[in-house]
Amino acid sequence: MRDSRDRELGMHRRISRRDFLNGVAMTAGAAMMPWDLLASEKTVNPEKSATYYPPALTGMRGSHPGAFENAHSLRDGTFWDSAGKPENTGETYDLIIVGGGISGLSAAHFYRKAKGAKARILILDNHDDFGGHAKRNEFRINNTLRLCFGGTFSIESPAPYSTVAKGLVQELGIDVSSYSKYLDRKLYPSAGLRPKIFFDKETFGADKLVINPSPRGGGESEDAAATSTELLKQFVAEAPIADQAKLDLQRLHHEPKDYFPGLTSEQKKAKLARISYASFLRDIAGVHEDIIKMYQSLPHGLFGVGIDAVSAQDAWGFDLPGLDGMNLDPTPGKGMNRDAIPNAEAEKYFFHFPDGNASIARLLVRKLIPAAIPGSTSTDVVLAKANYAKLDDPSSPVRIRLNSTAVRVKHLGDPASANEVEVTYARGGKVYTATAKNSILACWHVVIPYICEDLPAKQKGALASAQKVPLLYTNVALRNWTAFQKVGCNSVYAPSMYHSYVNLDLPVSMGGYEFPRKPEEPIVVHMMKAACSPGHPAREQHSIGRMELYTTSFETMERNIRDQLARTLGPGGFDPARDIAAITVNRWPHGYAYEYNSLFDSFWLEGGETPCEVARQPFGRIAIANADAGAYAYTDEAMNQAYRAVSEITKA
Ligand SMILES: Cc1cc2nc3c(=O)[nH]c(=O)nc-3n(C[C@H](O)[C@H](O)[C@H](O)COP(=O)(O)OP(=O)(O)OC[C@H]3O[C@@H](n4cnc5c(N)ncnc54)[C@H](O)[C@@H]3O)c2cc1C
Repeated sequence: MRDSRDRELGMHRRISRRDFLNGVAMTAGAAMMPWDLLASEKTVNPEKSATYYPPALTGMRGSHPGAFENAHSLRDGTFWDSAGKPENTGETYDLIIVGGGISGLSAAHFYRKAKGAKARILILDNHDDFGGHAKRNEFRINNTLRLCFGGTFSIESPAPYSTVAKGLVQELGIDVSSYSKYLDRKLYPSAGLRPKIFFDKETFGADKLVINPSPRGGGESEDAAATSTELLKQFVAEAPIADQAKLDLQRLHHEPKDYFPGLTSEQKKAKLARISYASFLRDIAGVHEDIIKMYQSLPHGLFGVGIDAVSAQDAWGFDLPGLDGMNLDPTPGKGMNRDAIPNAEAEKYFFHFPDGNASIARLLVRKLIPAAIPGSTSTDVVLAKANYAKLDDPSSPVRIRLNSTAVRVKHLGDPASANEVEVTYARGGKVYTATAKNSILACWHVVIPYICEDLPAKQKGALASAQKVPLLYTNVALRNWTAFQKVGCNSVYAPSMYHSYVNLDLPVSMGGYEFPRKPEEPIVVHMMKAACSPGHPAREQHSIGRMELYTTSFETMERNIRDQLARTLGPGGFDPARDIAAITVNRWPHGYAYEYNSLFDSFWLEGGETPCEVARQPFGRIAIANADAGAYAYTDEAMNQAYRAVSEITKA
């Protein structure tokens, strides 16, 4: 059975999906470990090869094979057993930054502004590409270039960008207010495409694609419309949910009720902050279980967990149904997640490059190492081809060394009086050291206790609590999008499928890059999965999900992707064996920064020091950045924290 279904899905088709390691296809025997491969002659300086170009790789990307093994072996206490004696590079810098994401790149930029363009900076990153989560995916389909984002999607934030972050965006030449020039807002609606919900037969008894009466909760496209009575009627007529669930849905939308009469607004918010939205719906509003199943995955795009782990107060902030009659005053309640606090000014500050915020990373790299990214404007960067051979060039004051995992960062002497920091890193199967006057750790906070052993225990505990949110950002290159047109939809919320959101790419044309306007043209479909385990506290869900993502094979993911697209778009004539040209799974077991949650973090409700404040304390000549340092999963925070970290080491 499996074989014939696999054939239908096209599992046998030769698409570009091999795992690559540091720019080199893994054609060697399966028993060969990444460490051995890295040690081989061919891969000592892979970035210098003319064919080294990570954005065009497909298959398992994000935390790709070869990127995480050293860090995991450090965590498991086995790294130093086989590492050998570090080799001294003899290199010395003003600053060594660990982490080449937006925070690390911004830190280099701010440091140069403070200390001058001659300041010598080394940036280390364990991945084969720079940008951290802000990664670029490229596809060639029938000789047509298609771009997509492998992680960080856009300039957006629930709160307005700070002066620092706005200033940096401006310095990079990005005119956020010009965005409407590039986006073809009308393309999908004018072709009759709308957001829909996919109900699956395992959960709801039938595979069915139904109009989404109120698209929200992340992943929806620009043309998302507010709930209207007409859409709700249409939805109720078509959705394969119980009759009682349909009645309950109409009640939630059209019969506002105060479920806590007699309490003040503040008391109600305090109660809502302590119960999940799922409990609110089930135990207080008393709705049918089908409604809970339908809403379960709605917050995946924002938090990576479902409504079992999102408070009812936050659900009120998101305007989810059932809370309109509670007569809550509009000011944010204590313990609300910042994502749930609406802000009109922030909502206007939105900008999406065709490769997401990878363009921001690329603009930063261009500022730091002009030879690596040709061009001069914030829009010509879209098609500029990065020259990876120039990233780590001895003649440049700033160097970016990819495929390099920092494994130890320590002061040479007493942290209170030392003049230098030594950074040890693993690369190509060897271990090296370099020194600097200062170091900024712009990497994931959970890694820091393992690489910076001298930190105080309390700070290590706080760093370790920043359990990142595990996610898949999957991009599927299709030969055309006629099936989407036939089923009349451009985005799908799929509450119980492997990926909870499926979206046709945002129609943005910029800097010479043209978005496909005709359904017959190749396109990239973006799919999002939150790896969560409903019923557990959020951090536990993240830890279980992280393990799931590291242990699931690409083959399994591919089968799930093909199956989901076939079932969703089959009625539109979609044939996964014929229509899929390539698949890139951007696996992010360490994805969004953990954001505090009133259901699980009492300090967030009751006040007091937050773990990120403890975690980001400077330590001698070492400062700590990354979006984790603000417990806020946004680009502006990555920049803000970089600025603070640089200020700490430059103020002396
Ligand atoms: C899938 C996804 C989508 C997102 N979408 C958005 C969005 O649309 N808008 C938005 O504002 N934000 C978004 N974010 C949040 C995103 O995390 C931030 O915007 C920002 O890109 C974070 O930058 P950073 O530099 O703090 O961290 P990262 O981008 O994670 O960079 C840190 C880097 O440090 C590296 N590192 C870790 N340990 C070591 C080590 N020991 N040695 C060397 N290097 C190391 C990591 O591998 C990584 O490359 C998204 C995040 C994810 C995962």
